Amino acid sequence: MGNIAADDRDPDCIFCKIVAEEIPSDRVYEDDQVIAFRDLHPKAPLHVLVVPRRHRRDVRELAEQPELLARTASVASKVASDLGDGDFRLIFNTGASAGQTVFHVHAHVLAGGSLAEEEM
Ligand code: AMP
Repeated sequence: MGNIAADDRDPDCIFCKIVAEEIPSDRVYEDDQVIAFRDLHPKAPLHVLVVPRRHRRDVRELAEQPELLARTASVASKVASDLGDGDFRLIFNTGASAGQTVFHVHAHVLAGGSLAEEEM
């Protein structure tokens, strides 16, 4: 696991380095397509990032591979069930003006606390 073809990897990308285990992360799930690890700066009691192993810039590019998008969503659901009560908010920041800072697609899984009362 973790061997990604050169075409599917950006040598300057921090999440590609996390996928390759060149940078440590607190991994909570992995399979042959997707990994999930805890966000370094959690914004909720449970805050996990679900990251396809292949380098795709954002969810617009990920949507060109519907199976991989679906896998990302189902792993988000599994993480929320395994580590929380199963309810979760799923966010893809897409583009700098929407708050994206890491340009390797990732789904934020946010759960716990008082998410229901918070505004988007
Ligand atoms: P975004 O702003 O949507 O691109 O989200 C990027 C997220 O990645 C932020 O919530 C960061 O806290 C998180 N992040 C950045 N570097 C790391 C890292 N090395 N390990 C875990 N999370 C990280």
